[in-house]
Amino acid sequence: MWFEIARDLDLDELSAELYEWSREIYPWGRSITGKETVRTLKWIQEKTGIEIKSVPSGTKVLDWEVPLEWNVEEAWVKDEQGNVLVDYRDHKLHLLNYSISVDKIVSREELLQHLFYLKERPDLIPYRTSYYNRDWGFCIPYSWLSRFKGKKYRVKIASTLSKGYLHYGELLVKGKSKKEVVLTTHICHPQMANDNVSGIVVLSKVASIIKDIIPELSFRFLFIPGTIGSITWLALNKDNLSNIKAGLVISAVGDRSGFNYKRSRKGDSFFDKFLPSLARDLGDIVRIHDFHPYGYDERQFCSPGFNLPFGLLSRAQWGTYKEYHTSGDNLSFIEKRQLSKSVRFILYLLGSLDANKFYLNLYPYGEPQLGKRGLYERIGGESKKKELQLAFLWVLNYSDGTNSLTEISLKSGMPFYTIAKAATILEEAQLIKQIDALEC
Ligand code: ZN
Repeated sequence: MWFEIARDLDLDELSAELYEWSREIYPWGRSITGKETVRTLKWIQEKTGIEIKSVPSGTKVLDWEVPLEWNVEEAWVKDEQGNVLVDYRDHKLHLLNYSISVDKIVSREELLQHLFYLKERPDLIPYRTSYYNRDWGFCIPYSWLSRFKGKKYRVKIASTLSKGYLHYGELLVKGKSKKEVVLTTHICHPQMANDNVSGIVVLSKVASIIKDIIPELSFRFLFIPGTIGSITWLALNKDNLSNIKAGLVISAVGDRSGFNYKRSRKGDSFFDKFLPSLARDLGDIVRIHDFHPYGYDERQFCSPGFNLPFGLLSRAQWGTYKEYHTSGDNLSFIEKRQLSKSVRFILYLLGSLDANKFYLNLYPYGEPQLGKRGLYERIGGESKKKELQLAFLWVLNYSDGTNSLTEISLKSGMPFYTIAKAATILEEAQLIKQIDALEC
């Protein structure tokens, strides 16, 4: 059972690796399209072997259209003396994302209409986008406003908005079954660590581990720009969604908070039912939230026409922390240990789902005699023996074809890995038999 990979991970080694990965891709100027997003996808490809897909600008996708591709050469504001007041090279958040090209002298009044800042957080640069309204602008800490005293300014934004492509990454790890579990994260945010570098590195690590095993279920990984990426993928795949049994949107999984899970709109997916108890197996506590129609890409997957069983797994909830969508979401806002524990939890969730089977007790009339079959001799240690003995009883009693192993784990309050181990031993002793290995 490959979920044991999760329990055997060397967290120290993994933490260092994931933090190094984060440092590498953190400063890049990502957006929903453009070279820096492709650079990020190529980086993910090196780790995971994703296929990079390209969809031309102007393609109709559901009620939307794939936008023009945006690229930036340089962007800055200078005062009359030629002093640089803001420079895109210093921080990618300084430029309004999707700014049009500008090269002109502007008055202070005009410039102020294009400066964005947060009065209540005067030292942080806000993250602003203008994907669908042609506009230009710069984002600065409010505390910098006093530097703009002069009457005239030179503004230069050397950017292009031209026909190109929207790119996203996709990897299908084929299992024995066509039934699929889909994992997604967005890849469109520039220079912010929790949202969304953490999602990229954590999901890349998970994909790089799963691609080397042959699971029961198939696992599909999507690295997509937020909103327009999920809409594009859904538009291109809308006739091939019936195999999806569960989905998870992963976002902001590097900060110091515990996990938050937002249920799917259906409310009865594998993760909706079993994620909290599986978290307990690893000593984690998860706060659960019912579905609501705002947040990340689960909004698209759970739109009523699709109504797919997608939940959202994050640490801090979006919009609830003061660093959210600002320059405060930097490398010191995330912790390497949190990244590696996120990888471990997601691997354990997926591995448990993959090992979640239904069994039928072949001796349902009275309890079968376990001692004479030598079952106890296979278990070392007194306390382990007691625990497994108890697990045997739970598995035997509830293996009537209607309870999966996770269901039995939930009912018994025992860890899934103990229940799964008991089932393996009982199956080898021919006391139970698997009746549908692939249901979830
Ligand atoms: Zn975001």
